[in-house]
Amino acid sequence: MNTEEHLLLVVSAAGGEAGSSGGRLIDADPGQPHLSVLDVAATRGDGIFETISLGAGHPQAVELHLDRFERSARMLDLPAPDRALWRDAVLTIAARLAAHDEAWVKIVLTRGIEGHPDPTGWAYGTVSPAFRRERTEGIDVVLLDRGLRSDVAATSPWLLAGAKTLSYAINRAAAREAQRRGADDVVFVSSDGLLLEGPTATLVLRTGDRLRTPPDALGILPGTTQADLFTAAHLWGLEAVVEPLTPADLAEADAAWLVSSVRHAAPIRSVDGVARAIDAPLTAAMNGFLRARRS
Ligand code: PLP
Repeated sequence: MNTEEHLLLVVSAAGGEAGSSGGRLIDADPGQPHLSVLDVAATRGDGIFETISLGAGHPQAVELHLDRFERSARMLDLPAPDRALWRDAVLTIAARLAAHDEAWVKIVLTRGIEGHPDPTGWAYGTVSPAFRRERTEGIDVVLLDRGLRSDVAATSPWLLAGAKTLSYAINRAAAREAQRRGADDVVFVSSDGLLLEGPTATLVLRTGDRLRTPPDALGILPGTTQADLFTAAHLWGLEAVVEPLTPADLAEADAAWLVSSVRHAAPIRSVDGVARAIDAPLTAAMNGFLRARRS
């Protein structure tokens, strides 16, 4: 059932043109099955998604998420999402979760049933887990070779590097490899030695008074959390810099984080078993800022 803490809206294409993702929002029961076994989301991971954090009923960075949703749709040759309809889905679920300080909503658009023109879409929202340890004590990460060069987005766009697709089996496998090595998370490195991103997060470093992150031209997701932090960097007396970074930059940085929509800023306390300093006051300020966002 749609309960106070589990909400599902099916984004029906029934009202839209054939082959478009237009339609209407239908309340649905998240405890019941809705997806056809013939949907390519299930059989091929062929679709896109966004996970948007909600602060006391307000979607955070929603326009950046919708920009990225549209960008992913373009990269996968999916019909352009009806932005107003998807924003409405996010806002409807956000309003119903307004009693909770931290919640999230995931929006999904798939190519639909093989051979049919209509995509499948839904929005599911629930309450966030507590991230106290990750946000304060920090996380242990390992560097893993992604096996792709840093120019993959330009040379091989069919690999969809930088699109937020439903094919996260590799991202999950990398997280399991981190656990096998006794760590919590991963920072991917390109085969030519540049720092990329985590399987579900953007890498951010502080070196002196510069907040640094790698450019999305390297075939990584443009992070919405990182974008909001970089817009706010001046609040903490920091200059925001987007530039290629190496593992040596990470080792020498004064502080490092993996940042993402629901977990927010998780300080990195070790890399490949080597302890590193965390910047507790800046981490607390960043997480306070991220949690307090109302748009
Ligand atoms: N990179 C990857 C591969 C991700 O999956 C995510 C989020 O899930 C991010 C970066 C961080 O993006 P955002 O801050 O918009 O959540």
